[in-house]
Amino acid sequence: MHLYSTKNRDLQVDLKEAVFRGLPEDNGLYMPNEIPRLPDSFFAQLPELSMPEIGFAVCEALFQGAIPAADLHHIIDEAINFPAPLVYLNPRQSVLELFHGPSLAFKDFGARFMAQLMSYFNRGEDQELTILVATSGDTGGAVAAGFYQTPGIRVVILYPSGKVSPLQEKQLTTLGHNITALEIEGTFDDCQALVKQAFLDQELRGKLRISSANSINISRLIPQSFYYFEAYKQLPKEGDPVVFAIPSGNFGNLTAGLLAYQMGLPVHQFIAATNANDVVPAYLQAGTYHPRPSVPTLSNAMDVGNPSNFARMVDLFAVAKGKGIDTDKGIWEGMKNKISGYAYTDEATEKAVVAVKEKYDYTIDPHGAIGYLALEAYQKANPHTRGIILETAHPAKFKEDMDRILGHEIEVPARLQALSNRTKTATLLQKNYAGFLNWIEKNLF
Ligand SMILES: *Cc1c(COP(=O)(O)O)cnc(C)c1O
Repeated sequence: MHLYSTKNRDLQVDLKEAVFRGLPEDNGLYMPNEIPRLPDSFFAQLPELSMPEIGFAVCEALFQGAIPAADLHHIIDEAINFPAPLVYLNPRQSVLELFHGPSLAFKDFGARFMAQLMSYFNRGEDQELTILVATSGDTGGAVAAGFYQTPGIRVVILYPSGKVSPLQEKQLTTLGHNITALEIEGTFDDCQALVKQAFLDQELRGKLRISSANSINISRLIPQSFYYFEAYKQLPKEGDPVVFAIPSGNFGNLTAGLLAYQMGLPVHQFIAATNANDVVPAYLQAGTYHPRPSVPTLSNAMDVGNPSNFARMVDLFAVAKGKGIDTDKGIWEGMKNKISGYAYTDEATEKAVVAVKEKYDYTIDPHGAIGYLALEAYQKANPHTRGIILETAHPAKFKEDMDRILGHEIEVPARLQALSNRTKTATLLQKNYAGFLNWIEKNLF
């Protein structure tokens, strides 16, 4: 398997290098050179396949022998060891629950797969590998759980101080062992900028083996495509066209859906649902892209002002439309035909949480609620569709807000409950790179 940089198609690396590098040196993003269509036989068998079997078929097609079958089975079986059930709100709308993993968010899929893949590729290395990861909330917990006690790998998590929920914070600051948390006085974008800068710092990279665990890492993205097939397989075979509503921040999840689509999954439309950080819906509307600083919202895991996967989305539509790079206008037209964008305020989000509870007796978290609103809006204009909302996190991860919005205490799963008694360990840092570098030198060398 070969992967290229979105900034330069000629800059090609193999899977191992893409996974460890995270980011190409030209600051683009890695994309698979070939995204093969899965054979008809795969789609014919789909209803009988387990999610790990789906994952195996996807990876086998993408990896093209980069990992022997037996090892690949092992990696996928270890990573994808929890379900993704589809729960119906009504005959036209269902919720794909992606929160049954250890950190109770969809990011468990990517983080666990990446941990397994890195651990596989890291066999035989003698220098320790350091994973740097910026989180706006859920990535950190998933990565921490995914890599916890993985030999030869340590994880440094940067999170914005005061901008993650108390339970999220516990998930990233209480494990210890090979997991270290840095509390940054800034926003998620500041955390992401620090990580990006470290990756571009050639002097640092000469001394430290570092890798990324953000959604920019291709190994995070690939397993997120599995559950689009998994959702589809749970629907009745016959019926209206299928659309996915995806609560989005960095747009990794949506990009993974596009990957599944390119591999042949018959997705009629993608619905990009955001909070006030609506850079992508605004682009779909106007055709020009204007990243800007993020603003804090209720759905904090989507507070992203400059979504890193946008470059991949552009690339997918450029490639899909022709050979090499298309015109900006062509890319935009392709994208807005396949992706509908909607953005919602916190006020609307809260109302949606209440409405879903009242109408369907289903407790949806604030991120999923934005997906619900976007699906509602889309289906108003396109009623003859079957909509799947990606429920990206368990509502109990946002308990304080959920209790306030619903006016009663929501149930907390036992494994999350146990966390609240554990002690937080984190180092507070300013958002400047010099201070971060200083910390690295003192603690990681
Ligand atoms: C990360 C996250 C998102 C956004 O996902 P992207 O792939 O970054 O678009 C949405 N909801 C929750 C709960 C998340 O943790």
